[in-house]
Amino acid sequence: MRDNPDSHPDANDGAAEKSPRDRFAAFFEGPYCEAAETAACAYPQRRSLRVDWTDLKAFDRRLARDYIEDPGDVRAIAENALMGFDQPHIGELNMRVHNLPESQTYRVGKIPSRRLGELISIEAEVIDIEGDQPLTTHAVFECERCGGLNRLPQTPGPLRNPSRCESCECEEADTFFRFIKDESTIIDHQEVTVVTPDSTLDKPPEEPMFLRRDRVNSVGPSDNIRVVGTYEVYPNPSTAIMDTFIRVHALDHEDQHETDSLSMDELEDKVFETVEDYMADGSEFDADKEEVIEGLASRGIRREEIRDALDNLEADRRVDEHKDGRLMTIP
Ligand SMILES: [Zn+2]
Repeated sequence: MRDNPDSHPDANDGAAEKSPRDRFAAFFEGPYCEAAETAACAYPQRRSLRVDWTDLKAFDRRLARDYIEDPGDVRAIAENALMGFDQPHIGELNMRVHNLPESQTYRVGKIPSRRLGELISIEAEVIDIEGDQPLTTHAVFECERCGGLNRLPQTPGPLRNPSRCESCECEEADTFFRFIKDESTIIDHQEVTVVTPDSTLDKPPEEPMFLRRDRVNSVGPSDNIRVVGTYEVYPNPSTAIMDTFIRVHALDHEDQHETDSLSMDELEDKVFETVEDYMADGSEFDADKEEVIEGLASRGIRREEIRDALDNLEADRRVDEHKDGRLMTIP
C-alpha cells in the first residue's frame, strides 16, 4: 500500500487546498510580480503596493471575496506573503486594494450595518482635518506586582487596559498596569471628517475617517476623495446606537488617480516639464512659480508634493528659482 504512488502524500499536491498565504504568494509571483518589484524599488518614496480588486478577483474569486469580508486578517496574510520574497523592502510595503465592486460602494451616512467590519468604498468630500497624532495600535503594560509585560491591541478611543496579568494572573483590582511607551507599537494617525460631495442637505451626515502611516497629511480641506476602508464601530460602545468610523486602506483624489502611482523621480520629471511648458508659453523666458504649482494642483497633484519636487529639482540644479519667485530650467 505504502509504495503505491497514488497514496503518496505529494501525489495530490496540485489538488490539495492551498492556504490563503500561498494563494497570495502565487498572486504576487504571477500577475502582480512586476508591480510588487516596482513598488519595492521605489521604497521609501512609495510605501504601498496598490492592488486593483478586480485583478485579485480575476486571479482568485474567493480570495477577493475574503479580502472584502475580513479585511484586517486577510490583509495581514497578504502582507505576510510579501515578506517571503527575496527583495529588499518588499516586506515593508502596505497593501492597498482599490476599485471595489459597485455592491460595496456607498454614500456617507447610507452605509448599512451589515457592512460593519467589511471593506467598503465611499466617495467623500473632506470638511475637517485634525492634526496628526501618535496612535498606539498595540499597547504594552507592565504589571506592578510581577513586572510581567502584557500586550493589548488598541483602536482609536479609550485605552484598553489588561483585565488580568498574563504572567501572575492577578486581577486588575490587585495590581497596577503601567503603560510602557517604548515597548508599544505607535504609528502616525490623523482623523478627518467627510460628507457626501455636493450634498443638497443643510446638514449632511458626517463620518470620521482615520488615516494612518503614509496616508497622514495626504488630504486637504474640500478635497474630493474616493476611499476604500473598513467600516467599524468604536470598541465598548456606551449606547446601543453605535458611533462608526472608517479606517482608511486606500485613497484616491477624485480628479486625479495618477499621484499615487508616481514615484518621486517621475513627479520631478513632470514638474520639470511643466516649468518648461510655462516658460515656452508666455512672452517671458521664465515661469511663475505659483502658476506652475496651481497648474499641477488642478491636475490633482498635492501642492505639498509639488513643492517638495521643486525643492529637489532646485537642490539638483535642474531648476533655478529667482528672488521674485520665478522659475527657470537649467539646461
Ligand atoms: Zn503580574
